Amino acid sequence: MKYIGAHVSASGGVEQAVIRAHELEATAFALFTKNQRQWKAAPLSAETINAFKAACEKYHFGPQQILPHDSFLINLGHPEAEPLEKSRAAFIDEMQRAEQLGLTLLNFHPGSHLNKIDEEACLKRIAESVNFALDKTSQVVAVIENTAGQGSNLGFRFEHLATIIEHVEDKSRVGVCIDTCHAFAGGYDLRTEAACEETFAEFERIVGFQYLRGMHLNDAKSAFGSRVDRHHSLGEGNIGKTPFSWLMKDARFDGIPLILETINPDIWKDEIAWLKAEQKN
Ligand SMILES: [Zn+2]
Ligand SMILES: [Zn+2]
Repeated sequence: MKYIGAHVSASGGVEQAVIRAHELEATAFALFTKNQRQWKAAPLSAETINAFKAACEKYHFGPQQILPHDSFLINLGHPEAEPLEKSRAAFIDEMQRAEQLGLTLLNFHPGSHLNKIDEEACLKRIAESVNFALDKTSQVVAVIENTAGQGSNLGFRFEHLATIIEHVEDKSRVGVCIDTCHAFAGGYDLRTEAACEETFAEFERIVGFQYLRGMHLNDAKSAFGSRVDRHHSLGEGNIGKTPFSWLMKDARFDGIPLILETINPDIWKDEIAWLKAEQKN
């Protein structure tokens, strides 16, 4: 069973995101549980939590179909003590919010070394940040997203993801989300079925499908290997439709949220319908 959806807006309240996903005829969705560009947010009220859970029940979304995303401000690999502490506190808050909503996944961008510490030290710091957050929560899996490798962002090599996992103590509560645009910009080709097979064979070898907890399905405006993060609508960018069609027929991508972050929300409904149809074509 494929769970297919988009990263929908939660404006007006997190329960509104559920309704928006339903209107797209989605079977999965992603959301921010707070304003992603601010450090602080009011705690979730009991009323909000109940409204979210009721909407999920009404529209048939289980926790395995929902992939909340953390704030863009958080850098769990920050080289300096004070901003690192701030990021860790904010990440714990994100994990706790997900848990309060009855969710079991939280998608995050690993972090950046800002050219002040080496890659290995930064990756260990990220894992340590995850360990702290897992200690403060009981059911949420920390889902590391691969990045395009812009600036000093780590996570653009499968080896980076593997190193973080290696240093996380509770392996049952760490996973990864592979973004197709980021992978492509990071140098993993997806333009042909043979390239997809090769890229995901490498993923299996370095990370392992047992850690795959979600996917972001995006075409790329950015060029192959450019390390630039620019999404595009499916089939309109430099990747093309092939990997999305290929993925829909591969059972290794069953049972996890497959989330569009493509640039035109007006066609999300069509993109979702197309992906659903590709399962059978
Ligand atoms: Zn993404
Ligand atoms: Zn991106």
